[in-house]
Amino acid sequence: MEVIIDNKSGFCFGVKKVISLAEEELKKNSTLYCLGDIVHNEEEINRLSKIGLKVIDKNEYLALNNCKVLIRAHGEPPETYEHARKNNIELIEGTCPVVLKLQKKVRSAFNTLEGEGSVIIFGKPEHPEVIGLNGQINNKAIVIDKKDKLSNINFTKPIVLLAQTTMNRENYWELKMEIEKNLKSPDLLDSNDTICGQVANRGPWLEEFSKSVDAVVFVGGRKSSNSKVLYQHCLQVNKNSYFISTVDEVKDLPLSGYSRTGICGATSTPRWLMEDIARKIEILFP
Ligand code: SF4
Repeated sequence: MEVIIDNKSGFCFGVKKVISLAEEELKKNSTLYCLGDIVHNEEEINRLSKIGLKVIDKNEYLALNNCKVLIRAHGEPPETYEHARKNNIELIEGTCPVVLKLQKKVRSAFNTLEGEGSVIIFGKPEHPEVIGLNGQINNKAIVIDKKDKLSNINFTKPIVLLAQTTMNRENYWELKMEIEKNLKSPDLLDSNDTICGQVANRGPWLEEFSKSVDAVVFVGGRKSSNSKVLYQHCLQVNKNSYFISTVDEVKDLPLSGYSRTGICGATSTPRWLMEDIARKIEILFP
């Protein structure tokens, strides 16, 4: 069996940056706290935990002082930085530059509106990136994840529309069109497609990749919504597509009889894991 690893799969630059910040820090100190999962991949978290990374939740963070804490790529609201200032916590800034730019955009949209209109964030209300974005303006944005949730918008006032970086682009355009339909005047809408290209371009690419092989093994974290979405792109064009998260799961894959198997993954899937899985497939399905 020929096993091919997709060369475009694996960490995006935002995730690469935060992982290397953690690794650098852990070379100097035996422990580093990270506020929330550093990446939505259990295997990578396990690897980093073994070298000293401790993932903490918000309550644990609020009880800390005099230490170092890594901020993950999703970013954080200002109150997290405020707590660090007051409690002598040194923050290591791992927020992805794309997210930092978006946070700035949210602040500037809010200031431009001067209370006359709405900032709408197309995103999942409970997603950490969205909590960080909305926190920039004291939670004054309206967060919407579906076009049928527009009932409490004032369509007679200006609207600035922005998006969480990992949302689906087609759904963003549907929401934008729905807002336009309701607006009193078209020039009231300032729409900004802020979906990250690293996510948006990967789906169509994975479809191409999946068509080029007999079977697809998609490697992703169980908690990663991006992985679930990208896997569907593979499945849509190749019915022999399988989702796994660990090397152990390779033994249960029905890969006998295929001559070309492709391995791919999400922006949160480590390269080493795809390589380990490829090796295991070569051993079990020669
Ligand atoms: S998907 Fe885009 S915005 Fe998110 S961490 Fe990666 S590069 Fe940054």
